[in-house]
Amino acid sequence: MAAHPPKTKILISENKRLQNLKEAFEKKYGEAPLFYAQAPGRVNLIGEHIDYCGYAVLPMAIEQSILAAVTVNDSKKIHLANTDPKYKDFTVSSEDIEIDKDNPQWYYYFLCGVKGIQEHLGKVPLSGMKCVVDGTIPASSGLSSSSALVCCAALLTMEANHKSLNKVALAEISAKCERYIGTEGGGMDQSISFLAEEGTAKLIEFQPLRASDVRLPEGAVFVISNCCVEMNKAATSHFNIRVVECRIATKMLAKARGLEWGRLLKLSQVQTELEASLEEMLRLVAEVLHPEPYSREEVCKALGITTEQLCTDLLSPNTQHGKTLVSLPVIFQSCLHIYLIK
Ligand code: ADP
Ligand code: MG
Repeated sequence: MAAHPPKTKILISENKRLQNLKEAFEKKYGEAPLFYAQAPGRVNLIGEHIDYCGYAVLPMAIEQSILAAVTVNDSKKIHLANTDPKYKDFTVSSEDIEIDKDNPQWYYYFLCGVKGIQEHLGKVPLSGMKCVVDGTIPASSGLSSSSALVCCAALLTMEANHKSLNKVALAEISAKCERYIGTEGGGMDQSISFLAEEGTAKLIEFQPLRASDVRLPEGAVFVISNCCVEMNKAATSHFNIRVVECRIATKMLAKARGLEWGRLLKLSQVQTELEASLEEMLRLVAEVLHPEPYSREEVCKALGITTEQLCTDLLSPNTQHGKTLVSLPVIFQSCLHIYLIK
C-alpha cells in the first residue's frame, strides 16, 4: 500500500522561513495559520521530455519548494495571497472554480490542485480556506515550480477537507489537474514532488505509476545552474508542440505498422505493441518519418483524417493556431530524441 504524505510537528520559532510565512499570514488575515503544506521542485537527471511518451525518467527533488500556510473556515471562499508581491491576491468561491488557460496567472495553478481534489472527491462542496503561498523555486526555469504549486495546493486542499489520500493517488491527481492550465505534461514532476525521499533519486515508471530508489553516489554533489532565461510553459505553445509532435508520430508509426493507431497515444505504446527494441524503433522512425517539417495537410493525408479531427483529437488548444498549424515542426527529430535518450 502506497504511503500517505507525512505529517510532522515543527517548532516554528526554529525555522526562519516558517516564521516569516506565519508573520505574513497574520499580517494579511489577522489570525494564525492552522497548518502548513510543502511540495518540492525537482531536477531531472535522465530522460528529458519522455515522460509524456510513457517512458521512465530519473528525477530527484530539490530543497527549493512551495510552502503554504492555511486556515480553514465555512465561508466556501478561497482567499489566496503570496509572499512575493508580484503574485497578486485572488479570491474565488470553492463552488465555482474556473481555470482560464488563456491567462495563466499564478492562482490558476493553485486552483488546478484544488479542482483536482474536488473532482476526485466527487465534486463535493469544499471548505473555505485562507492561504499564503511562499515559493523558493526559480519560476519558469525548468525546476518545476508550477507542479510544486499544483501539488502543494492539492495536498493542502485534501488536509483542509479532512480527507486522506496516498502519495501515488495525489501524484496522479496532480498530474491530471495541472493539465487544466493547458500544459499537457506526462506526470514526472508531480510524481517526484510527492514520491521523493531524502538521499535518493527515483526511477519513475508509468502505467502503473511507481517509483524506485536509485542511490546517488556517496558524497556526490549536483550543481544546478540557472541561465536566467525563463520559459513560461502555459503562456506559450513550445512545450505542447513537443507533446503534440510525439502524439502525431505515435499515430503515424502505428499506422505504418498496421496497429490500431486510433487508440494509441504514446510512443512507448507503439514499442510495446510491436515488441520492438529501441534499435528497431529507430529504424522504424527513419523509415516512416522524414526530417523535413510536416504540413498539416500531409499529416491529415497520412492518417486519413480531416483537419477538424486533427484539431480535436491530436492538437492541444494552444497548438491549433498560427504557424504550428501550417507546418507542424520536426516530428522526426522529436521522435529520434525520444528513442536516443531512452
Ligand atoms: P517551471 O519550469 O518552473 O514549472 P512553468 O512555466 O511551468 O515553469 O510555471 C511557472 C509558473 O508557476 C509561474 O509563471 C507562476 O504562475 C507559477 N509559480 C511559480 N512559482 C510561484 C510562486 N512562488 N508563487 C506563485 N506562483 C508561482
Ligand atoms: Mg512547469
